[in-house]
Amino acid sequence: MIDILSIVQDNDRYNLHGHTQFCDGHANMEDFVREAVAQQFSHYGFTPHAPTTAESPVNMSREAMKPYLDEVQRLREVYGTQINILAGLEIDYIDGFGPNDPYFMSLPLDYSIGSVHFIPSIHDENEWVDIDGRFERFKEKVPQYFDGDIEWVVRTFFRQMTRMVELGGFDIVGHLDKIGHNASMYRPGIDTEPWYDALVRDLIDAIMDHHYIIEINTKAWPEHHRFFPNERYFGLLRRYQAPVIFNSDAHYPHLINAGRCEAMVLY
Ligand SMILES: [Zn+2]
Ligand SMILES: [Zn+2]
Repeated sequence: MIDILSIVQDNDRYNLHGHTQFCDGHANMEDFVREAVAQQFSHYGFTPHAPTTAESPVNMSREAMKPYLDEVQRLREVYGTQINILAGLEIDYIDGFGPNDPYFMSLPLDYSIGSVHFIPSIHDENEWVDIDGRFERFKEKVPQYFDGDIEWVVRTFFRQMTRMVELGGFDIVGHLDKIGHNASMYRPGIDTEPWYDALVRDLIDAIMDHHYIIEINTKAWPEHHRFFPNERYFGLLRRYQAPVIFNSDAHYPHLINAGRCEAMVLY
């Protein structure tokens, strides 16, 4: 395990949340490393979507774990004098299988991100539905899996996040209010309603109690001008003196720094 906070302190040239050919990224790991070297990054961390028990075309298989870790090692040998390359995972929290599972604990990782991309269907608690993808799909799933109850979707997302935070087994909390993006496209303004705001604040309190690093995720900035958590919580995080990290969640090499400087300026 590495000391993440020492990497991000007084340093804006890093990204510790990125996807590649091992999940839904659109380029090979080496392409990302080359771009990070070109942009004079000091650190680049890979976080493929980890194996999960939910049905998912996005998450890597367990069989891919060794090739992934081998590729990190190979890239370190080639580029190690120019950049520090870190082996991470973005691990889904699903009831019964999450970041605290012994499988993940046994892996030689530098760090991991805990994220929620799936919540159970309102009809069947064993059917896990991806609520993280593009809005075009999300708006079809709300009636199909959640009886059109967008508030239930939001509350369930934050309940899953809170459980994940309580159970632990990871270092960084990924995009802690990501549901706000799709939910507010489904029902504009939902993420400014008092009950929603209370859910975010309660989650941030739980995260602070458990001493995680909080990710400011900038992936949606280029297209939607939105950060996760929403910038309206930056003041609260600053008051709490929360340990934060600015990650681009890049799926394309040209986006490894997208939104990061804008978020740092606002923070
Ligand atoms: Zn994610
Ligand atoms: Zn991600």
